[in-house]
Amino acid sequence: MTKIAPAVIVLGENSVPVARKIINVLPGATLYGLAGRTSGVDVSFTNFGETLRELFAEGTPLIGICAAGILIRTLAPMLSDKKQEPPLLAVAEDGSTVVPLLGGLNGVNDLARRIAEVLDVQPAITTTGDIRFRTALLSPPPGYHLANPDDAKKFISDLLAGAQVKLEGTAPWLSNSQLPIDPNGNLTIQVTEHLVIPAPNRLVYHPATIAIALSDLSETSITVDSIQQLLADANLAAASVAGIFAPITIAADPSIQAIANAFNVPIRFFTPNQLENLISQGYSPAQAIAIKATSSSRHLPISPFPHLAIAIAPTPIDPSTIGQPRGRLAIIGTGPGDSKWMSPEVKEILKSATDLVGYKTYINLIGSLADGKQRHESDNREEIARATMALDLAASGRYVAVVSSGDPGIYAMAAAVFEVCDRHPKPEWESIDIHVAPGISAMQAAAAAIGAPLGHDFCAISLSDILKPWSIIEQRIAAAAQADFAIAFYNPVSQERTWQLTEARNILLQYRTPDTPVVLARNLGRPGQMVQVIKLQDLTPDVADMRTVILVGSSQTRTIQHSDGRISVYTPRRYTT
Ligand code: SAH
Repeated sequence: MTKIAPAVIVLGENSVPVARKIINVLPGATLYGLAGRTSGVDVSFTNFGETLRELFAEGTPLIGICAAGILIRTLAPMLSDKKQEPPLLAVAEDGSTVVPLLGGLNGVNDLARRIAEVLDVQPAITTTGDIRFRTALLSPPPGYHLANPDDAKKFISDLLAGAQVKLEGTAPWLSNSQLPIDPNGNLTIQVTEHLVIPAPNRLVYHPATIAIALSDLSETSITVDSIQQLLADANLAAASVAGIFAPITIAADPSIQAIANAFNVPIRFFTPNQLENLISQGYSPAQAIAIKATSSSRHLPISPFPHLAIAIAPTPIDPSTIGQPRGRLAIIGTGPGDSKWMSPEVKEILKSATDLVGYKTYINLIGSLADGKQRHESDNREEIARATMALDLAASGRYVAVVSSGDPGIYAMAAAVFEVCDRHPKPEWESIDIHVAPGISAMQAAAAAIGAPLGHDFCAISLSDILKPWSIIEQRIAAAAQADFAIAFYNPVSQERTWQLTEARNILLQYRTPDTPVVLARNLGRPGQMVQVIKLQDLTPDVADMRTVILVGSSQTRTIQHSDGRISVYTPRRYTT
């Protein structure tokens, strides 16, 4: 639950500067702003209550830059299970106060401390145990898992009433706290990766010290069950598993993801180079991985599987500092321009991606979603070089978003990436998780702006003869016209290419009447949007440019002249001959 990135909610423009400061220290956080009162936010909402309740129900940590009372009243009907509650905080509009309200079991006080630090104020922490002992026994820091939270309430009240506590095992956050630690205490806090029986007077924390190393998954007997059994036989707690570690060569194997999901831990990978040294010293690949992951060679001697090794690190493992994650490459379409035409999936990807690759104009269209990411801008024509660079970056463990406008599969980068994978493959690219996220293409946006000109069969033709010869384009236009398709022309003209559009019109006129409706749509969803309807006979190169998409009607396409002067164009779904 705490893995969901927080939402910062503002009700007016005055609160935006404080919200931005907070977002800077909370990677992946989304800025929600009330529509009409705020601008430049990630998500603009109209119904405050509904939005807040929806986010809360999903478990999103919520930071409202508003009065505490509004937040409490809005969410009051939903407060039933404190274990499930995400953190909820109120922050004063001028940043002078940070008040953790809910989500004590899910780290609200830590979140409050982080926010207070960036705002340079004291957080208003009211949890008695937290204040007295300078530590939150119920929400331990990353790397520690409390095995018996149900016993904690009584345990903490006993401590507050004066009981002393014995510490077994080591954890700096406990020994450095102000807990009344005493070797003869009648309460015990135990830190161990072993399975022990918790009790009301014994809190058990499992440190994330166990690394599971897998070197080959073709051995079918390695399953979630067999790993769990192995841990149980060794009396080890599954909650102490910090991560799954493997060679990058098996990154694409779905069963490794299934194993990581079952333990709810990340997977980190090593390249062959990183393992070479240990393997040459006589360790098996699995052992070499386990040693790398734990900087230790305390192996379980009993793994019955040659491709599985388990090791225990002396202190909790932070997987994000070890090896690399599986690289990801998302080829995304941002839609024609306006962010309301960008899919939620694409926005999600843009939030998580580490690197953006693309033509500068397209990256600029993303606006603030591009903030804080490595940009790799290039010329619009260097598609193959750009695709290769994106794949190399992803293979190194980055999360790369290749950005196209419109749809990435329509005259855009997706085909270039797959072409490079197909024609110039590199073995290290095999590990990459490649995903294409669709967008609204220019022809759809153009059609929507004027009615429904693509309502029946249609096709798309690019008039650019840079990547294909004009003779082919000519044939295609004639065939499409003859087949009576409505046609979307992409790349109709550029500074160097002007005669092509005239040629296209002349071919069309052999099959279509001169008054066939033609839609010219320019800068859709961008400043200077223009949508206009002309007749086929008037289609000349000067009416279009590189930012125009042209829709030519079929023989059935009709124009409606509305009484207020507006024009609609549509192609009926019923065909009449
Ligand atoms: N992948 C894009 C197309 C890229 S080819 C998409 O699916 O929309 C570039 C051509 O697309 C331009 O020459 C123009 O014909 C069209 N185009 C792209 N964005 C446009 C916009 N915002 N308004 C009008 N036409 C656009």
